Amino acid sequence: MDWNKYEAVIGLEVHSQMLTETKAFCGCSTKFGNPPNSNVCPVCLGMPGVLPVLNKQLVEFAIKMGLATHCRITPYSIFARKNYFYPDLPKGYQISQFEEPICVGGYVEIENKDGKKKKIGLVRIHMEEDAGKSIHDQGSETFVDLNRCGVPLLEIVSEPDIRSGEEAYLYLQQIRQTVTYLGICDGNMEEGSLRCDANVSIRLRGDEMLGTKVEIKNLNSFRNVERAIDVEIDRQYLLIESGGRVKQETLLYDADTNEVRSMRSKEEANDYRYFPDPDLVPVVIDDAWIARVKKAQPELPLERRDRYMHDFSLPKYDAEVLTAEKDVAEYYEQVVASFKVKSKEAYKQASNYLMTDVLRVVNEKNIGIRKFSIRPAQLSRMIDLINEGTISTKIAKEVFEEMLQTGQDPDAIVEKKGLRQVSDESAIGEVVEEVLQSNPDEVQKYIGGKEKLFGFFVGEIMKKTRGKANPKILNDLLRQKLEKLKN
Ligand code: ADP
Ligand code: MG
Ligand code: ZN
Repeated sequence: MDWNKYEAVIGLEVHSQMLTETKAFCGCSTKFGNPPNSNVCPVCLGMPGVLPVLNKQLVEFAIKMGLATHCRITPYSIFARKNYFYPDLPKGYQISQFEEPICVGGYVEIENKDGKKKKIGLVRIHMEEDAGKSIHDQGSETFVDLNRCGVPLLEIVSEPDIRSGEEAYLYLQQIRQTVTYLGICDGNMEEGSLRCDANVSIRLRGDEMLGTKVEIKNLNSFRNVERAIDVEIDRQYLLIESGGRVKQETLLYDADTNEVRSMRSKEEANDYRYFPDPDLVPVVIDDAWIARVKKAQPELPLERRDRYMHDFSLPKYDAEVLTAEKDVAEYYEQVVASFKVKSKEAYKQASNYLMTDVLRVVNEKNIGIRKFSIRPAQLSRMIDLINEGTISTKIAKEVFEEMLQTGQDPDAIVEKKGLRQVSDESAIGEVVEEVLQSNPDEVQKYIGGKEKLFGFFVGEIMKKTRGKANPKILNDLLRQKLEKLKN
């Protein structure tokens, strides 16, 4: 079988929950975790005769997202009713946008492991409200919580430009970085603030026409999106190669078995009978508003990455890791800002500590960096202490562990534990002398040409000074004394 005959075609529909204080069309709180059915009012419960009023912040967030993804902002957009019945949708329709969405066109740029760039087009970004939640895991009854009814979402619909699970993963990562940098969504996929449906088809390479697509739902992590798409591509490929035909349907992904199974076929699919919502006036956005939002737009991930490479002379890899999460980037900048002595070397040191020691602990504990026990100013001070010659990098490891456990400042730890580096030449000289005298055989061998033994002497001296001897002074003194003995 020749896999290469085919190419996969994928388009993603991403729902992103907006961080507005209140809901899309009423004044109810959007706060997560409140008692069931406490964030509700006649408007979001869909009582007869109520009038929805659009949340201006939602429009502002949509414009922000549209600008960040190079979309055209529609000057005149309208809301539509998307009609369907579901127990957690008391109105019997969802307010969404259909014919005139707020953002159209645009693209998201992804970069694969080899540094190859690719633009994934966007069909549209539109505003809509969320439905409630049915709760099935409370015994034999099903409960309905309507707190989520009316919570604002942006739906971001990509062109079918994605060609693999990996590209889908990279695309989602870009979307997540963008919404979190913009501060319009917390980006938490596990908690449902970012949801993704994947549309997948395959076609013969070179064909213009798109193949029949299936839609996969229930994808609650980045990895699952990637895996589900790859599994589905394989399924369609095997099906077609064995003479079958893909039928249009909706599939659910089961992460435990890494399989997809049918949820509903096209015949059962909804006809939403969209029509303009007569309760809501059109959204009119003038150039001045767009200009205001543009001016207030924060730095975006790729811009920040480039700035780190330029201002802090960091390698691209470092800049990428540090800017992948906004909170990590902010942490890094606070470390760097607190340096007493700013230098390229110190910027790189800070990057190394952050990428390895700090992120290791943050990931192990599965906490955000904001909850990390060492504060940026403390890490910054520790690096200053290294560069001032107060502690060695080896001792710094001990200081780091102690900061982690106790939350104490590095200076206090150095004093308390007596970790200050010894830079006094006569003190170090004495130890060098001692070590050479107590190892006469090794000294003879060294003089006889076994120069590797230099490291052995360094080790012995470090042992005696409990790692506190200034390595440069130690090296210089040791070399001088050994040279003298040679002659
Ligand atoms: P629907 O009306 O079924 O929701 P749309 O045309 O609105 O379909 O497209 C929804 C998503 O599916 C978009 O992201 C689009 O890029 C993608 N898509 C459309 N046709 C295909 C196809 N043949 N294969 C893969 N993805 C597709
Ligand atoms: Mg769809
Ligand atoms: Zn309400």
